Amino acid sequence: MKITEHLKNANETLFSFEILPPLKGQSLKELLEGIAPLMEFKPPFVDVTYHREEYIYKKHPNGLLEKISTKKRPGTVGICAAIMNRFQIDAVPHLLCGGFTKEETENALIDLNFIGVENVLALRGDAPKTEGKFIPETDGHHFASELVEQIVRMNNGKYLHEETETSFHTDFCIGVAGYPEKHFEAPSMKFDLKRLKEKVDRGAEYIVTQMFFDNQKYFEFVKEVRAAGITVPIIPGIKPITTIGQITMLPRTFFLDLPDALMDELEKCKTNSEVREVGIEWSIQQCKELIQAQVPSLHFYTMSKAGTTYAIAKEVF
Ligand code: FAD
Repeated sequence: MKITEHLKNANETLFSFEILPPLKGQSLKELLEGIAPLMEFKPPFVDVTYHREEYIYKKHPNGLLEKISTKKRPGTVGICAAIMNRFQIDAVPHLLCGGFTKEETENALIDLNFIGVENVLALRGDAPKTEGKFIPETDGHHFASELVEQIVRMNNGKYLHEETETSFHTDFCIGVAGYPEKHFEAPSMKFDLKRLKEKVDRGAEYIVTQMFFDNQKYFEFVKEVRAAGITVPIIPGIKPITTIGQITMLPRTFFLDLPDALMDELEKCKTNSEVREVGIEWSIQQCKELIQAQVPSLHFYTMSKAGTTYAIAKEVF
């Protein structure tokens, strides 16, 4: 079923979450068993992230370094099929501009349609860690809005190199990303909102936000998005802090602020388990307030560590 239908049919805030494919060489079994307890909260859908290639350096006996392109977390499409099979719920693959030509995107969408996927989250993706700037493939998309456009064209039976419209149409429901604290490359919030509107005007039907730790930032964002004329549902992304390392890593990686009240508590922590306790409690309070505000779904970034999400969901659903 489409995400928009799940949201329309719901009379209370839903529970949903995102997982990462396991690292190459690890089995899927552990991941699926890890998320099984979360089914207690009846998620109508689970997102599966996509990870593009990264570059590693292999040292040869002659001392020369060879740059090799490799995917550390392949398997997004297979995991979607496994989730739909095992849990009988929808799986939402993330689909990137980065690393894909338009033709490869078209073929990926055909694969997804054939396994029964009805929703995709359309994203630009970031530059590989060793490259400073996002560079699309030759004949790839520069921005998520272009990817949205391609998916919509396919939904209308228009394939890339076909002269005529085909009789078979895909029917993907398309989600896109939104940033309550602005996307890091956007020169201003106003600019970023214009780009977000472009994605929606081209056919995106819902927005999932980047994680945030201050609900006021989400509420303010929703206000600004509505003022910009965007009416689609805006699903808040929730990430509990669980380790000392994340206190600096999350703001640095995702360009967000940790509120003073949260920092005051985190600064008292000496161990990861103390941080996790504070992180869980903070998320519970965030979620309670968001449910009060009747947000469409609470979407958890589990980082494939379902135990923390379970502890929060148990308190709020
Ligand atoms: P876009 O919407 O294309 O925007 C990127 C930047 O370009 C913004 O600054 C925007 O303001 C600007 N821009 C947009 N259109 C134009 C234009 N026409 N002209 C000039 N500037 C423009 N990454 C992954 O690799 N894999 C994942 O699975 C993944 N999942 C994610 C899930 C969520 C919910 C979120 C919020 C992010 C996720 N990301 C993922 C990260 C995402 O790929 C990065 O944040 C990326 O930098 C931007 O993606 P986007 O789709 O928001 O890009």
